[in-house]
Amino acid sequence: MPNTATRPRSVDSYRATIAALVTDLPIERLPVADCLGLVLAEDVTAPIALPPFDNSAMDGYAVRSVDVIGASEDNPVELPVSEDIPAGRTNVVPLLPGTAHRIMTGAPVPPGADTVVQVELTDSGVEKVRIFTPVALGTHLRRTGEDVREGSTVLTAGTVLRPAQLGFLAALGLPHLPVRRRPRVLILSTGTELVEPGRPLAPGQIYESNSVHIAAAVEEIGGVAHVLRSVPDDVDALYKTLEPHLHDHDLLITTGGVSAGAYEVVKDALAGEGVEFLKVAVQPGGPQGFGSYMGLPVVTLPGNPVSAALSFELFVRPALLRAMGRPDVDRKRVTAKASAAMTSPAGKKQYRRGYHEAGSVQAVPVGGPGSHLLMAFAQSNCLIEIPEDVTEVPEGGDVRLIMLVP
Ligand code: AMP
Ligand code: MG
Repeated sequence: MPNTATRPRSVDSYRATIAALVTDLPIERLPVADCLGLVLAEDVTAPIALPPFDNSAMDGYAVRSVDVIGASEDNPVELPVSEDIPAGRTNVVPLLPGTAHRIMTGAPVPPGADTVVQVELTDSGVEKVRIFTPVALGTHLRRTGEDVREGSTVLTAGTVLRPAQLGFLAALGLPHLPVRRRPRVLILSTGTELVEPGRPLAPGQIYESNSVHIAAAVEEIGGVAHVLRSVPDDVDALYKTLEPHLHDHDLLITTGGVSAGAYEVVKDALAGEGVEFLKVAVQPGGPQGFGSYMGLPVVTLPGNPVSAALSFELFVRPALLRAMGRPDVDRKRVTAKASAAMTSPAGKKQYRRGYHEAGSVQAVPVGGPGSHLLMAFAQSNCLIEIPEDVTEVPEGGDVRLIMLVP
């Protein structure tokens, strides 16, 4: 009888464990331009109205509508132009009845004017202007507060700051925003066989790629990745490499050295130091570890590149997003029909790499289940999730997809 302590953890239960490992990130006031992808921590009240003053929506002439009522092609109305108002002019003088001010888009409409005649409906005169059509009262005016009333709540806590929100808050004149700050993630790959791209490979060596993938995945969700690249399978080298960085980060992610073989450097170094090693009922990516080392939360991912990437996707990504306060923690899920039959091990959730086009009913498996198949991963845009109790998916069978690309 296997005892329950060694029984693999389910994907859902392990996801909850990792979510609890990464605590809520602190709230800071950051420059607006540094807030892309972050979450507002407080409601924002408009310090000014938008527009802040009545202004022109067109290049043209500020007039009183009654002064141009009878205008026509054959019988234009001619008005003296007494002022020129470019955008940015602050000392605007009132418009006298029977006159016009030349005005540019975004310039303040003078008191007394109630309408803007666009330049195309005039002879573009400078001293005096001939206007060829009547224009209804209020035309081409942008009114104070039409978009935002001063003092109103404009965005609420929990809003994800995307370009439109940042531009809007900058337009309100806010230099800083209250947000949960970016997670700082330390990334360490392990393996004596690993070589940094750009150097020649000796027989038996491979290029180190996990740190590149994991760092990119961290940055894609708005985190700050600090890559230590790789250490050989040597416990002392691992301790020494980590030591100077333990205090400036929210999470340490390691890859490799956690399975059942010899030379499992991460396991050897961190077991008994606050990190628990276990099996999760998932393929690929069964061997996992989590905990905290010298006070720094740690997730130890398996080394096979697809396993490491999938583990990040399933366990770490949602934990980081949750800690950032993001409401959109889960990827979009879609149901589709498998374009080919697939097999899956009993008792494990299997994640195949797949391709699914929006609007199509089909999910196409890309490559096999092997956790070394990097090109297949690079050519896929979704994961095909096969539940624990399913060992065979027939061609045309229903499958659930996790969309990796929005
Ligand atoms: P491990 O979990 O350390 O036994 O590694 C499993 C497999 O993944 C081995 O084939 C390693 O060479 C490979 N591997 C481990 N770490 C990396 C990495 N950072 N980049 C590329 N391949 C890796
Ligand atoms: Mg290794």
